[in-house]
Amino acid sequence: MKATILYIEDNEQNFYLVSFILTANKHEVLWAKDGREGLETALDARPDLILLDIQLPIMDGYTVAKALKEHAELRETPIVALTSYALPGDREKAMTAGCHGYIEKPINPATFIAQIEHFLASRPTLEARP
Ligand code: MN
Repeated sequence: MKATILYIEDNEQNFYLVSFILTANKHEVLWAKDGREGLETALDARPDLILLDIQLPIMDGYTVAKALKEHAELRETPIVALTSYALPGDREKAMTAGCHGYIEKPINPATFIAQIEHFLASRPTLEARP
């Protein structure tokens, strides 16, 4: 099923690779280059999924995740952290900040779309919403 996916990422090469894979699988991809733009785009476009880089200018991904979750209309939107600085505790930090999942960079092009489809499928259904 076609989904709208927002990718908050400051690195062009990372964005193009992910965007290439997602659009090849019929998804629509929106790009925000920093947290503030990401927050504005998320509120405006209401994406089905948000991919979030952690190393971002102005505010880091953890701060962005917390800011996204402060908006009731985005509370159920899955956020998946994408990070190349995987240190012990990073996954927990991302989850605590409100992320639903965590994918390490460099992404594996062979398995990336399956990971994304998994997160899309795990979204709460309309019926399940209170
Ligand atoms: Mn970055």
